Amino acid sequence: MQFETRCVHVGVDKDSTYLSATTPIYPTSTFRWDDLKSHRGFDYTRSGNPTRKALEENLAALEGGIDCRATCTGMSAIAATMHMFQPGDHIIAGHDIYGGTYRLFDAVFRKMGIEFSFVRMGDPENVRKAMKSNTKCVWLETPSNPLLNIVDIAAICEVARKGGAISIADNTFLSPYLQRPFEHGCDIVVHSTTKYLNGHSDVVGGCVITRHKEHAERVSYIVNALGLGCSPFDAWLVLRGVKTLGPRMEAHQRGAMAVAEFLDSHARVEHVYYPGLKDHPQHDLAKRQQSGFGAMLSFDLKGGLPAVEKALSKMKMFQLAESLGGVESLIEYPDSMSHASMSEPARREAGISEKTLRVSVGIEHPDDLIADLKQALAE
Ligand SMILES: *Cc1c(COP(=O)(O)O)cnc(C)c1O
Repeated sequence: MQFETRCVHVGVDKDSTYLSATTPIYPTSTFRWDDLKSHRGFDYTRSGNPTRKALEENLAALEGGIDCRATCTGMSAIAATMHMFQPGDHIIAGHDIYGGTYRLFDAVFRKMGIEFSFVRMGDPENVRKAMKSNTKCVWLETPSNPLLNIVDIAAICEVARKGGAISIADNTFLSPYLQRPFEHGCDIVVHSTTKYLNGHSDVVGGCVITRHKEHAERVSYIVNALGLGCSPFDAWLVLRGVKTLGPRMEAHQRGAMAVAEFLDSHARVEHVYYPGLKDHPQHDLAKRQQSGFGAMLSFDLKGGLPAVEKALSKMKMFQLAESLGGVESLIEYPDSMSHASMSEPARREAGISEKTLRVSVGIEHPDDLIADLKQALAE
């Protein structure tokens, strides 16, 4: 089956009772046993639920993994993978990973005895230099947030493998439609399904997708033991969203390219960060490892904070809000919104300035998006 077909069908056609065309929601905490020896595959919803299982089969098939656990948030998916490690283990992560992930590593798992190094992964040599005898995992995220830096997945996974560590990729920003880290040698993929996979800004969720049996068993054990699984209703929403992933991503990208080109030629815009533009430093790498450039972009507006405030107050279509990956276009200010949990020096070090705005381009017609930006940026 081709990708778009898997989105629509895998895991879905399971209702043998009434042959419903879509997956039913099973809002039940428990399931009856036939007798003391047998039940029909499910006994308690924390451990498993037919609606959640349908979503898990679907997402595993989209990334090309063997198993998936759907969790209640993206952060709980990431936390589940961290529980695979032990005090004394060392993990290498990118210096510009998602702020919530940085906080989880730095303020929660570090206290539990796991060691972290944050390195610039633009050069895989930096990862190699950071590898130690106790390095158990290399954590990567590409493109990065909010400046859309791209890292070479194959090169970094190879460094990890040679050093006896596993690699885990957060693939939220592109979705499996545009990038499949397993094809570049990665061992585990996580997502915040809140973003493109669900795509309609009406649920928070996550998933962990594995490709090795021992990882699948361990993650499944952890998700059940910690109670991280998503609700049947949320699973159903994500499953519904994912059916249109391919066509949505095409529409998202069409708009993003148009918006990036418009901003790039605008006199008041100092710089546009979008891998689809030829002057993006990793444009060729993005072309090689992704099958599209995605729909996240950032730009620096001349005039700093006053200019930013004025432009934001005039936006009509672009909503001032965090998050990303929904059908509606959003704009936000990383310095005080999405990246507020980082210290100011850390933000500046990562290249986030007081001029930087981040945009999640929705699926509205590009002409309407450009018209809104044009009037909002007019002097
Ligand atoms: C949103 C996001 C997360 C966290 O997901 P939640 O669903 O908000 O818990 C993790 N990684 C990336 C890249 C994200 O964009």
